[in-house]
Amino acid sequence: MDRNARMEQMKKKRLFSAFLGILTALWFSSCGILDTESSGGESYLTPKEAIFALYANDPAPNDSLGPHLSTGVLMPVHAGAQYTLSFDADETHEAPKLQLYRLYPRDSEYYDVGSQTKNLTAIDSAGRWVYHFDCGETSTPYWGTVLVEDGEYYTGAVNNLRFEGVGSNSLHFSLNLVVVGSYGGTSDDVSLDSLSRLILEEFRSAFSPGGIVVDTLFLHHASERSDLSSSYPDNEPWLAGKYSDDYFVTEVGGWPNSDAEPDVYNALDIVLVHRIEKTGVLGLSQLFGGNLGGGSGSTVVVGTHYLKNSSLESSQSALQIALTAVHESGHFFGLRHTTSQASEVLSSLDQSNYHDGLDDTPFCEALLRMVMSSEISESLASMPSGAMPRVYLAKSLETCPDALNPMFPVSATYPEDTEDFTEDQLTLVAKMLQLYPH
Ligand SMILES: [Zn+2]
Repeated sequence: MDRNARMEQMKKKRLFSAFLGILTALWFSSCGILDTESSGGESYLTPKEAIFALYANDPAPNDSLGPHLSTGVLMPVHAGAQYTLSFDADETHEAPKLQLYRLYPRDSEYYDVGSQTKNLTAIDSAGRWVYHFDCGETSTPYWGTVLVEDGEYYTGAVNNLRFEGVGSNSLHFSLNLVVVGSYGGTSDDVSLDSLSRLILEEFRSAFSPGGIVVDTLFLHHASERSDLSSSYPDNEPWLAGKYSDDYFVTEVGGWPNSDAEPDVYNALDIVLVHRIEKTGVLGLSQLFGGNLGGGSGSTVVVGTHYLKNSSLESSQSALQIALTAVHESGHFFGLRHTTSQASEVLSSLDQSNYHDGLDDTPFCEALLRMVMSSEISESLASMPSGAMPRVYLAKSLETCPDALNPMFPVSATYPEDTEDFTEDQLTLVAKMLQLYPH
């Protein structure tokens, strides 16, 4: 499918149900949250689409966001955080109102438009229009944007868009290692207890230079959870994406607190499965997953094994598993790949995001241009929405200047050579950890 056809398909998929949206807005306005009808006839300019997501503090270029801000981009926000959105003033227009609406995921593709939650006037500051607001919600909702000028969708330019979020949550976090199905071992015969200790060590060494403290790791087996609708027996290997449609095994995220472990619910959930049912894929997480509780975006998935091709699997070493968990957690905290894979750029529909936007991470032209094997590219093209995979490739990419960065999308030939996160990467992770309630 060419890019335009794909874009059309995505637009169709993500269009809101306008009718239901309006009904929901009226329902909420009668609850007194904000009477959209009283705000000068602007109430029905609701978000029309959410093809692109605007993440706070995302340094990537995101060239597609500006042109869509007026009619709707998805804006995940976090309870207790303070936000500033700004862009260059367009002198041919009046500063538009920034109106924000609650969006409710109906399924993995559709959102319903809820009530208006903000109606913001710009502050003019050094040639930029600036909007300050706090989240003011108790959960972690999705909002959608609308820019309104004279009762119509704003048609001026939105250039150099920036969206900053500041939170005051702790720089400490813990890990839950949730083993789903039987533990299949590593290529170097490391026991589960030793693997757990290695994962904790690798997290500490990766994140502590950023002032982040990884307190501890709790080891659990999904088979202990009698409350879950799917059963996860521990006597057979779990193949994520095969035994249930949910590659992220979201159901096991948000491990319940107990008297013995009163603080596990807000730990980062690393789900250890036998393998992910996609060729070449070692681990998965959602970019800006951001949920240190339970539910969508709360899990990072790693396989002890991976599919080399459709019929052959291979095992990872303990260190590869630990580094894959660190890599995927990097995505959870907002780090993109240092160099995007071509399939990622295509599926995000934003060609500007071929790199992570950070100044101190190198970039590899050769990777972007590399033609993957058909099996790998097929598996990457059919990833679950928002998934950020790390892949195994049977060819050397050592000529790439970012090949040893923890956020390079392809696992290193010699994992022990993996470098530290850069200063800019750690700064972003620390900022996001403070934004995520936990
Ligand atoms: Zn990745």
